[in-house]
Amino acid sequence: MEHTKVSKTRFTLLDLGEFDAYKEEHITLTPEEQQENRTKRIIWPIPCYCVLIQHPTLGSVLFDTGIDDDYQNRWPKNLLEEYPVKRFHRLADRLAEVGLSPAEIDLLILSHLHFDHAGNLRSFCGTKAGRHVVVQSEEARHAFFRSNLYDCQEVRYRHDGYVRHEFNGLPGIAFDIIEGDVALADDLELLHLPGHTPGTMGLLVRTEHFGTALFPSDAVYNAMNYGPPAVLPGMCARPDVFFESIEKCRRLLDQEHGTLFYSHDAAAYPHYKQAPYWYD
Ligand SMILES: [Zn+2]
Repeated sequence: MEHTKVSKTRFTLLDLGEFDAYKEEHITLTPEEQQENRTKRIIWPIPCYCVLIQHPTLGSVLFDTGIDDDYQNRWPKNLLEEYPVKRFHRLADRLAEVGLSPAEIDLLILSHLHFDHAGNLRSFCGTKAGRHVVVQSEEARHAFFRSNLYDCQEVRYRHDGYVRHEFNGLPGIAFDIIEGDVALADDLELLHLPGHTPGTMGLLVRTEHFGTALFPSDAVYNAMNYGPPAVLPGMCARPDVFFESIEKCRRLLDQEHGTLFYSHDAAAYPHYKQAPYWYD
């Protein structure tokens, strides 16, 4: 298939569906909710998506890969049970809808290595993008360490977001490790936003008409986290730096009158444009 050549940067969201998560992992529960949560853990459905950017010099750039296209067969049993997927679209199908296959992605960036962001890394084995997967140094250190503490024969989800086989030792996958903030182009920047995980990374895109968009990934799950005032989620590897990352986003967006796209906000999500519609 012929590559789409664009003269100006544009981006869109690839919707991959929705799954149930524990509310306490995403926000601080109210005292009433904490009470309720003790009897039965409160769940709420959250959307899952990736971002596709078409860039005049970098080509087709994919930010995250979502949930494994074959999660039903590959997820640990307790992950399937505790985080049921309620609505699902395969990444391969979403890419095909915009005329692309994994082999045609020029650059793959992973915001972090959790199962709902790095789940389809194996689809990029041996591809151009798969040989240079961009990931934050702190994330690689944390994820590979955490996921290798376990016995690999005992396949059980450990509630830290990582599923070992999704990113460990995949043939044809190599990582380009970056440290801190990196500008890939004038209009495309990666931001280190530690908190959710030590190496969570956000993406800043600037387009001609829409202006500045910031995808903070799980550094900012939802509008409640963002505030102001910012609210700490229950699932947070580095609570000490979480607020600093939120304020970093706020500063950048204030400066450029930009728009923040929450990673898992069911209320905001229907207002985001999805493929085949583009922000340009
Ligand atoms: Zn997530």
